[in-house]
Amino acid sequence: MTAMKRRYSASDVANAQFDKAVRFMHLPDDLVEYLRTPKRELTVNFPVLMDDGRMRMFTGYRIHHSTVKGPTKGGIRYHPDVTIDEVRALAMWMTWKCALMNIPYGGAKGGVQVDPKELSRNELRRLTRRYATEISILISPEGDVPAPDVGTNPQIMAWIMDTYSMHRGYSAPAVVTGKPISVGGSQGRIEATGTGVMFTTIEAMRHLGMEPGDTRVAVQGFGNVGSVAALRLWEQGCRVVAVSDVNGGIRNPRGLNVRDLMRHQAKSGTVVDYPDGERISNYEVLTADCDVLVPAALEGVIDEIVAPEVKARLIAEGANGPCTTEGEAILLERGVVFIPDILCNAGGVTVSYFEWVQDLQAFFWTEDEIVERLRRIMLENFHAVWDAALEKKIDMRTAAYTLAIGRVVDAVEARGIYP
Ligand code: GLU
Repeated sequence: MTAMKRRYSASDVANAQFDKAVRFMHLPDDLVEYLRTPKRELTVNFPVLMDDGRMRMFTGYRIHHSTVKGPTKGGIRYHPDVTIDEVRALAMWMTWKCALMNIPYGGAKGGVQVDPKELSRNELRRLTRRYATEISILISPEGDVPAPDVGTNPQIMAWIMDTYSMHRGYSAPAVVTGKPISVGGSQGRIEATGTGVMFTTIEAMRHLGMEPGDTRVAVQGFGNVGSVAALRLWEQGCRVVAVSDVNGGIRNPRGLNVRDLMRHQAKSGTVVDYPDGERISNYEVLTADCDVLVPAALEGVIDEIVAPEVKARLIAEGANGPCTTEGEAILLERGVVFIPDILCNAGGVTVSYFEWVQDLQAFFWTEDEIVERLRRIMLENFHAVWDAALEKKIDMRTAAYTLAIGRVVDAVEARGIYP
């Protein structure tokens, strides 16, 4: 089973990845120190009126890791295990992800320590409006633009947009992305992360000589990222042999009908009671007999205990930070190829960028335009990372980091240090 949850620090993993990459870059120590340090961190403790009339205190965060390349961008997570350490790591990952995709943003992240499933819709709305107000000293269309992440969705983004707009006295759709289409959301944003996972995975498979028809895929996490990634890979002809959600997993070595499974999940709320699959654990999904593993849930799931049992030869990181430093080392040693999170799941923030551009121009693109632009950007940057890895004889993540960090360094050098 997976190691104890909180022994692990997401920031330690993010810093170790960064430190590994800068060893290949010949940067001065003071610049390295500047690049790894978060710019500002806000903690907010705030009350929410619950439906029973009582007040309950919640804690949330919004962290800007870097503003060097533009406004900060990054999602908001609602999860009971949110900590400042986790948000700090996620904010840093956003800096490298945006730089790698060449989109003009710095990195940020937010989170509230809450289990959204335990709240009523009205409680969730009040919590969101209050949290949005608390962090309103940081967010704006030109300064910091939130988006969905684990536990949040387009409705929550609409409430944030509305709260901010009420305070300003006019509608400001560009303050947040991942909104419903009716308030300035973009075509294709909901599916963007999963679609991007598919683009990079199919491209990696092509480079590794893996035919979709002969490729077995396991997907851990069947939320917005995992379910769409599974669907898209299935549409490409891959055999999806195991999937899991928070309740557990299912396996079908002959391949699951992913469209049917998604319909089932929408009705029953889970994949585990799907009739055409054998019930297995989350651990058995991570270690399933497969060629491609798509971890698409939370950080730290592939650790030193899980890694030796992983069968896949390609890992497509739909989640942010799914591999610990030790877990990754074991798999790299065995020659497993990674499509690192900052590349693999960057389709989400890329279409967020499209949404923000459309909102600022009040001019909207078609779904075909969105998907085509997304495909081009994903493949361009996949090739940049693949080539850098080959050329420098380093792993894909380290290659991605060197490219991303290099782009931030160029911006630091062009701007200079103030005053
Ligand atoms: N939460 C997503 C991520 O981790 C999307 C962020 C965004 O669209 O700003 O990349």
